[in-house]
Amino acid sequence: MRTSPSDLSLGPGASTGAPGPALPTALLIAEPAPGQDITPSAGDAVLRPIIDLPLQELRQTVAGMGEPEYRAVQVASWLYRSTATSFGEMTNVPKGLRQALSERFRFSALAIKEERIAADGETRKVVLQLPDGEQIESVLMRYPQRSDGTGADRATVCVSTQVGCPVKCAFCATGLMGFGRNLTSGEILEQALYFLRWSRRHPPVVRNVVFMGMGEPMLNYDATMAAVERLVHPAGAGLGVHRLTVSTSGWLPGITRLTHDPLAVRLAVSLHAPNDALRDQLVPLNRRYPVADLMAACREYQGVTGRRVTFEYTLLAGVNDSPGLALELVALLKGLDAHVNLIPMNPVSDLPFAPSPWPVVETFHDVLRERGIICTVRREMGRDIQAACGQLRAEVERRERRPGSRGARRGVEAPSIAGVASHG
Ligand code: SF4
Repeated sequence: MRTSPSDLSLGPGASTGAPGPALPTALLIAEPAPGQDITPSAGDAVLRPIIDLPLQELRQTVAGMGEPEYRAVQVASWLYRSTATSFGEMTNVPKGLRQALSERFRFSALAIKEERIAADGETRKVVLQLPDGEQIESVLMRYPQRSDGTGADRATVCVSTQVGCPVKCAFCATGLMGFGRNLTSGEILEQALYFLRWSRRHPPVVRNVVFMGMGEPMLNYDATMAAVERLVHPAGAGLGVHRLTVSTSGWLPGITRLTHDPLAVRLAVSLHAPNDALRDQLVPLNRRYPVADLMAACREYQGVTGRRVTFEYTLLAGVNDSPGLALELVALLKGLDAHVNLIPMNPVSDLPFAPSPWPVVETFHDVLRERGIICTVRREMGRDIQAACGQLRAEVERRERRPGSRGARRGVEAPSIAGVASHG
């Protein structure tokens, strides 16, 4: 059940943290140190993460513990608005309530398996371990303002919504993994909170969240939108709803639901080809929902909501990057308020695709721009840290399967995400 703002108002006193030290400029790989005791207690593993609770349920839970309603507001404030990473840090919450909560819930749904920082310091990627041992990825992309005035002074988190993905796009490392399971709303939400907490110490603070990581969000719609709800709720993280973007490879029932959803999140479509012949090969879901139907759903979304639609287009050398296809794309988008985001491909070792050469990217971009299409080229970020969707998780799993590798030790668990959330 969704919570209305009046159900749980935001209390004062949320900590925002302070600016911290500068980011390192070299590639870092953070792994549990050998011998470090990082195994969660057996009891912890079976407890439900408190972050999974809708705000209304949190209020009922706290009330059921005999506490007044404002205590739920305080707890929510610690969960969503502070850099706290444990119940013990909720200093304005009575000790008895903190104890009761810690006996019924675990603080965190996620545990850091590995974290990498790109050489430019602006892209951080984490592999996160879920309570059942599955692994996912999340990425922080920073665009800080520089001394010369350049830079947008913003930070965006890209979160996963599923373990693996059932869509199996031809150029995607996640697609190679197949599908594991849907994430819970707490598992989705906490990915954003992890980087939000970190960014409070290392501005720019995260204001944008894109649901564009592993998985097809529209196939896990309810959990995705429950996460959105707590990210934008005044008693939750309080982000602006227009700064949240849900991406889809073209699951039409999901686009239709989003069109009529009261939560006004933005829509992005992973298009990658302007016609069925090519898109059938790159995005298998196209065989079920062809380009014409997809565009009709986008037009309906825009007609009802008035919001611009973003189209993601990964440029693959010699496959979908010709000027002729750019012209087809222009024709396809005619009359639509659209933004095309051209994405230079991050190479994936097991896949037969290569990034388009820069002059080809420029030509494709120019064809669109000269014909009035709003078009940007995503800055190449984090190629040195396997920033393409699913790449780092695949690398971690490959390494763990190697006999004698450090991660292959039996019984080794990752430290809690909460435990490193404020490191820096
Ligand atoms: S590109 Fe997106 S929809 Fe396609 S397989 Fe990868 S994660 Fe799934």
